[in-house]
Amino acid sequence: MNKLYLEIALPVPLRRTFDYLTNFQGDPNGLIGCRVQAPFGNQTLIGIIIGVKAQSETPADKMKDIHTIIDDTPLISHLDLQLFSWAANYYHHSLGEVLHASIPQKLRQGERQEHEQLISAWKHTPEGMGLPETALNRSKKQQEIHRYLLQNTQFTRSTAQRLGFSTSAIKALKDKNLIEEILVKDSIEQVQTNNSLLNNTPLTLNQEQTAAQESVIFHRFGAYLLDGVTGSGKTEVYLQLVARALQAGTQALVLIPEIGLSPQTVGRFKDRFSVEIAELHSSINEAKRAEHWQAAKSGRAKIVIGTRLAALAALNKPGIIIVDEEHDLSYKQHDGFRYSARDICVYRAKQHNIPVVLGSATPSLETLNNAITGRYQHLKLTQRASTATPPHIESIDIRNQQLTAGLCESAIEEIRHTLQRQQQALVFLNRRGFAPSLFCHHCGWQAKCTGCELPMTFHSHPRHLHCHRCDRQNGVPRACPSCKNQAFSHRGSGTEQIELFLAKQFPNTPVIRIDRDTTSSKKAMQKLLEPAYAGTPCILVGTQMLAKGHHIPGINLAVIADADQGLMSADYRGVEQVGQLVTQVAGRAGRASSTGKVLIQTHQPDHPLMRVLIAEGYNSFAVQLLAERKHSGLPPYGYSALIRSESKRPENALAILQLIHGAIKNTGNKHTITTIGPMAAPIEKIGNRFRFQYQLFCNSRKELHATLKAVLSEVEVKAEARRTRWSVDIDPVTS
Ligand code: ADP
Ligand code: ZN
Ligand code: ZN
Repeated sequence: MNKLYLEIALPVPLRRTFDYLTNFQGDPNGLIGCRVQAPFGNQTLIGIIIGVKAQSETPADKMKDIHTIIDDTPLISHLDLQLFSWAANYYHHSLGEVLHASIPQKLRQGERQEHEQLISAWKHTPEGMGLPETALNRSKKQQEIHRYLLQNTQFTRSTAQRLGFSTSAIKALKDKNLIEEILVKDSIEQVQTNNSLLNNTPLTLNQEQTAAQESVIFHRFGAYLLDGVTGSGKTEVYLQLVARALQAGTQALVLIPEIGLSPQTVGRFKDRFSVEIAELHSSINEAKRAEHWQAAKSGRAKIVIGTRLAALAALNKPGIIIVDEEHDLSYKQHDGFRYSARDICVYRAKQHNIPVVLGSATPSLETLNNAITGRYQHLKLTQRASTATPPHIESIDIRNQQLTAGLCESAIEEIRHTLQRQQQALVFLNRRGFAPSLFCHHCGWQAKCTGCELPMTFHSHPRHLHCHRCDRQNGVPRACPSCKNQAFSHRGSGTEQIELFLAKQFPNTPVIRIDRDTTSSKKAMQKLLEPAYAGTPCILVGTQMLAKGHHIPGINLAVIADADQGLMSADYRGVEQVGQLVTQVAGRAGRASSTGKVLIQTHQPDHPLMRVLIAEGYNSFAVQLLAERKHSGLPPYGYSALIRSESKRPENALAILQLIHGAIKNTGNKHTITTIGPMAAPIEKIGNRFRFQYQLFCNSRKELHATLKAVLSEVEVKAEARRTRWSVDIDPVTS
């Protein structure tokens, strides 16, 4: 008997696969994509078979036997294996870890796959099929069923119920041997009529929406940027595109940003469609997640909707992919396998030869550039769908102004006017807690995190100190640890302080704070926001959680308390993010009938790009920013990779980066690849661990990747690589 070797991808950091011996007797090609239990060191790991071969380069004395083959049908399809191999290669990450990240925990742990349920259905017997369409016209009910089967080949019990077929007519046809009962897969593709797909009637699209909707071509790859101002009806376009995909018997994959921020979007899909919808995001528990993943894989779920992790889900027959708010940073995984869900979606659409629609009011520079160069088709929605007019945006120069809880006098006045008109106001500040620093007024002692050496945020309810980097929480000392005085002061403001101040200032108005401290769950946030949705005059105070996704019609004023955070940031993406934020927050103001207003508090009222943003809108702002990026060769005009390392011993963290730096210098590409570092990361220390980084830029993506691949395989086996935690981030979105 010939020996058979299995090539296995195991969930270990090494960027390679492992060969094992098997005594499997059946058709080896059916094994690819199945899970196995394999001995690795002194543990047993669950891996995926990615190849079957008659010979192996692994020496015979090192060769081990596979313990068990878990699946009898592949868990991962051939096409998905190709996707994940590409992703592992592109993100320079271990294929085994990539595959692990793509499947739900239960299946990762070896739980059996759900086998598809078979359900009964009716179809014609050969006699029935040969019968002319009019042969049964003496019984209208039998005739109806006969006609249906001539067109649709079969129907299940639920279809029979939906279409009102009578049980006695079915029985009569069976007794005449014209139809017979068969077993079919639950997911069997049923030809659905428009009525059975939809719960409620779609809106009549306006001209721009119609043009956008009709531009999307099905059964062919195409990437589309749906560039539409907030409230222009992008979601309605998505819904109608999804309906088209379902009518064609295919599935739709819909990606949304963090779930807590977009519960309404999921709700709108559920309200619209009567098909099974699989949700995949962090508020779905593990058992349900495994179930939903399998529903997506079998095709039973016609719509798969979720956060970035849904981009990796197995799909039976996708017909369209939609990425809502494509610019959102949550689409980038920030640890482990650092993929961009948006980019994965574009790749998958190409693989399946289907359209992918990226929607945003504030497209990322990458996507906008692809639209400008014609790689993506640019679809524009310039009008708000409802009657609302765009808000008026102005910046307030806060230089030399007295601020109370971070707000200047004119902003407070505007809030007062808004409330007097029985409308709602929103104050946005991306900093929770009461104050970002607490110190002793007497001797200058400052409360710092012992792990990160950075100031701890002071929270007043409940009263404690909190490090927002490493999550360390301490009590507030009774007296200054250094001079024993009790004269504490704080500096700066957070959402908690604004909330308390506004509640005192406007005692008869509800002040609702939305940040990570008040919204432990999705439900908590919805509950807090109830009065706002009901239209009660109120003030909303919140972090970026509030800037996204909510459609609260009564908001008429939005105050951005601190635009300087991003404008003065050392990161080149800071300005892009402020532009997106201001535009998104502006989208929250004046959604109903009256014109809204947005106030931006800044020490840089003359910032040239901000002036363009205010005067001409996001598109002009982004086009200018693209010109700046082009000038300096930054993404999307150049490609970048960021290698991070961290360790309790700074010398270990630095050593791996120096090793990589040396290896890069030794390759012939030192002229085309520019590097920054190794150097300390912007946050040098988190929770006792010292952090370093090393950045690479290159104007050829191919060259950057080829160099990295060679260098990483060389260094990952060295001792330095094992002494520290380090990672590779391709196309990083944060530093
Ligand atoms: P976006 O996703 O671009 O923010 P939405 O799809 O949420 O916009 O639409 C904003 C509002 O306009 C919603 O209340 C929606 O019901 C309404 N709307 C969208 N399209 C139409 C339309 N064609 N006719 C009437 N109202 C519409
Ligand atoms: Zn002191
Ligand atoms: Zn800390």
